Amino acid sequence: MAAKLFKGAEYLITVADKNDVFTPEDFSDEQRQIGDTTEQFVLNEVFPHRDKIEHHDLPLTVELMKKCGELGLLMIDAPEEYGGLELDKATSMLAAEKLALAGSFSVTYSAHTGIGTLPLVYYGTKKQKENYLGKIISGEWIAAYCLTEPGSGSDALGASATATLSADGKFYILNGTKQFITNGGIADLYTIFAKIDKQHFTCFLVERTTEGLSVGPEENKMGVRGSSTTQIILEDAKVPVENLLGEIGKGHKIAFNVLNVGRFKLGAAVTGAAKVALATGVKYANERKAFGVTIGSFGAIQEKIADMNAAIFAAESLVYRLAGMIDDRLATLPKGTDNYYETYQQGIEEYSVECAIAKVFCSEVLADVVDAVVQIHGGYGFIQEYAAEGYYRDERINRIWEGTNEINRLLIPGIILRRAMKGEIPLQKEAMKAFESLMSPSFDEPDDSVPFAAEKALVANLKQAFLVLAGSSVQKFMDTIKDEQEILLAVADLAINIFAIESAVLRAEKILPNLSESKKTAVSAAVKVFTFNGTEKAASAAKRAAYYIEEGDTLTMLLAGIRRFTKYDASGLLKAKRHLAAAAIEAEKYLF
Ligand SMILES: Cc1cc2nc3c(=O)[nH]c(=O)nc-3n(C[C@H](O)[C@H](O)[C@H](O)COP(=O)(O)OP(=O)(O)OC[C@H]3O[C@@H](n4cnc5c(N)ncnc54)[C@H](O)[C@@H]3O)c2cc1C
Repeated sequence: MAAKLFKGAEYLITVADKNDVFTPEDFSDEQRQIGDTTEQFVLNEVFPHRDKIEHHDLPLTVELMKKCGELGLLMIDAPEEYGGLELDKATSMLAAEKLALAGSFSVTYSAHTGIGTLPLVYYGTKKQKENYLGKIISGEWIAAYCLTEPGSGSDALGASATATLSADGKFYILNGTKQFITNGGIADLYTIFAKIDKQHFTCFLVERTTEGLSVGPEENKMGVRGSSTTQIILEDAKVPVENLLGEIGKGHKIAFNVLNVGRFKLGAAVTGAAKVALATGVKYANERKAFGVTIGSFGAIQEKIADMNAAIFAAESLVYRLAGMIDDRLATLPKGTDNYYETYQQGIEEYSVECAIAKVFCSEVLADVVDAVVQIHGGYGFIQEYAAEGYYRDERINRIWEGTNEINRLLIPGIILRRAMKGEIPLQKEAMKAFESLMSPSFDEPDDSVPFAAEKALVANLKQAFLVLAGSSVQKFMDTIKDEQEILLAVADLAINIFAIESAVLRAEKILPNLSESKKTAVSAAVKVFTFNGTEKAASAAKRAAYYIEEGDTLTMLLAGIRRFTKYDASGLLKAKRHLAAAAIEAEKYLF
């Protein structure tokens, strides 16, 4: 467990210590064991059938889900009281990560264990859990989550599905269409959102056999083709009143809180997928010859391999740091109280900024990785016979679902500013201090004898840049800042890269003393490479924000400040890249 209980988004205004972060190196034996069981299950049971699954053998997928249930892999987040394992989020993320090798099957698994199961766990009554949870966590039943509609995706609360109480008061009559529902064709229980009397957004548990519920045809998708995606059509579907989940008019709480969990788990899952894709790329680089040598000997290929390793190191550091933050907070909650799951949800919601960051950052790392892996394959990367082609197609959806990356980016400053207005984060005060440091003539030189001193000083400076820009945008636009999306996106990019760089640096600092000399060199190289790449992105975002917010002398002053705040001496960068690439080429996989 990490030492300090952080508030959500607090990382932007405080200095974190290496002992404050949970890292993959901190996994307990039990956590590792679940990770190993998951990996073995995927390698032995799923991977051999990958082709069939990708060609939409849904009965096989259902069978494999049952096997998953037998191994306990569907019950990680479920309460012990109902036969679940009730393990921490770090374990649940590790399982999601290890499932990545399973391709489309991992989509079925994630939708079932995440958005499919968690509304019931968090908001279900005792009776509802008794009725359904056992079947779901054993794999006897498959679960699906139905929020999106043909006319409302990002604007989820604009849903037009309706629920009307029957004359005898025993049923809600549901009408409407739900769109793009993962597991739609194979699910037995659907968590469906509809508006009672066209206004009170509410959640319902609806069984597949419900009269009036029908399943549309399978969508023909670009990627994750083996997963089931259908419409769910409700035509006077009769849902017993006992199956209303949570409270009337409070469906948005369920919809959005469950998405927080979906987002951080997606971060873990795509990090796993990035590792798999990287290994494929490196193996190919070792086999393919051009100009009489293996292509892995070319600097152009090595640079891609180095960048991928460094970015995945950051993604992994970020994901498990977040797992630790959430687990630490949830561990403080007294169990067995009537409102346990309400406080539990609040505990996760506290980190909604970090959850959105995990979703955006990690899905974009995967996007860069699969792109580079296709490129390493040259023409063969474009051919279906090669795995790289499938990785490329499968990746794309991750930037769209669980809230598009635009929506998640907008959420980041949106939540931060809302919390600042409520006085939960002293943003204005810290921004004022940052403005003062903007005027100050020079910076202290970092102490080179301390590991990662330059990177830590940089992170502190990047936070100053964030504070100055967030402060300036609020000062300039006040309440209308919410309409300045281009600024919000740029500020979000800065916040995202700060969290990623800091997570990588703190993890490296924490694990360094326990590493062999060669691992030390590799970790230090990964930190240098990622810090450089992340800072380039942060600097570009900061400059964009400055140009959008200010003009004239104030703009000139801001840009000068940004130049200083984003200054990073990455001497030895090429050596670091070559070292990382050589080590990965030798290991034929992700290095850490
Ligand atoms: C394979 C697949 C599986 C899915 N599984 C599920 C599932 O199991 N359950 C479920 O409920 N849904 C599911 N979805 C739906 C998915 O979550 C939505 O597609 C997604 O939320 C985007 O909604 P949309 O498609 O309506 O796009 P839109 O909301 O129409 O967005 C279109 C574009 O406009 C942008 N945009 C929209 N609003 C704003 C705004 N306010 N500001 C700035 N930009 C904006 C978006 O970022 C996007 O670029 C799935 C989708 C797919 C493709």
